[in-house]
Amino acid sequence: MTRTLLRGLGLVFSGDIAAPRLEADAILIEQGRIAAIGRAAEMDAEGAEVIEAQGCAVMPGLIDNHVHPAFGDWTPRQNQLGWIEGMVHGGTTTLISAGEVHLPGRPKDPVGVKALAIAAQRAFSAFRPMGARVLAGAPVPERGLTEADYAEMAAAGVRFVGEFGLGTVKDEAEVAQVMGWVRAAGLNAMIHCGGPSIAGSNLMAAPVVIAADADIVAHINGGPTSLPRAELTKVIEGTSRAIEVVHNGNPRNALHALGVLREMGRLDRLVIGTDSPAGSGVQPLGVLRTISLLCSVGGLDPGLAIAAAGGNTARWRGIEAGVIAPGRAADLVLLDAPIGGAGRDAAEAFMEGELPGIGMVIVDGKIVCGRSRNTPPAARIPELRA
Ligand SMILES: [Zn+2]
Repeated sequence: MTRTLLRGLGLVFSGDIAAPRLEADAILIEQGRIAAIGRAAEMDAEGAEVIEAQGCAVMPGLIDNHVHPAFGDWTPRQNQLGWIEGMVHGGTTTLISAGEVHLPGRPKDPVGVKALAIAAQRAFSAFRPMGARVLAGAPVPERGLTEADYAEMAAAGVRFVGEFGLGTVKDEAEVAQVMGWVRAAGLNAMIHCGGPSIAGSNLMAAPVVIAADADIVAHINGGPTSLPRAELTKVIEGTSRAIEVVHNGNPRNALHALGVLREMGRLDRLVIGTDSPAGSGVQPLGVLRTISLLCSVGGLDPGLAIAAAGGNTARWRGIEAGVIAPGRAADLVLLDAPIGGAGRDAAEAFMEGELPGIGMVIVDGKIVCGRSRNTPPAARIPELRA
């Protein structure tokens, strides 16, 4: 049996909003899963390989709730290679597709939409750049697809529907009807919110977003153009499911959305995405930067911000990642204050508006990178003991 003991931990962020920080200094990993969390002195770790965390914080591998992959580790939007690996170096180990809309020549007829969704789901379930899970195959609702088509895709393994509003299904009654089919098929869906993102997509205003009742209101702060703040508030108050804040959006309105959710006592609805690749680029540190914004300017506790990109997203999406708990996949990110920054640990770094340094990323119990190539260097770096 493969066993790894991660010990000497400083802060332990669980990713669970109900208990965002754990009192522990060690995590025992067995067969790629978390076996125990607690005190190293009290753990039976006979024969385990040892990682000395040197006082670094640990958080769950982050989930980017909103990406637009094509195929492989390539994005046609910015004609860039290796962007998914870049994300892993930013602590993101699970990425959820909001639609493969950037695929050159993307088909829009029903047979083509289904074929693309199933092919993307299959391809990314067999392709894991640096261990990253890319949950792809998210068909964009187009006119002509029937209830049976959504059921067929679900039966074939598709789990998510891309953004309503990026395709031809965009009017209130039509969106509501298709959303009913999507739910009947057991699929999880998101709706574009705000101004059009690229030519050919649509403005999705408050009434249609509210009526849709999708699992996720995508980019409440715009992707990249936000609804006006009064409208945005109506969407949050008029819906009951997840509200996504993205890096590729309006930062002022991201903070406004945070304030509305906080006032409602519903921070469990907050999820984080990058919406990359986008016109503003690929953002390997986009989730970290959004956490840093919400903490430093928004005053959000880092444990809660990490939970937004962890357990909150996992719960609203019906997936397993994003939480440090016994039995869960050992997707772990070791991080610390950056050298030269004002904070003394990762939490203080976030509160100062800094980007923490990542010293190690672990996926399914395996070390996929040491010192991140993308974050600033961490003050303390974990070490694998020979
Ligand atoms: Zn969008």
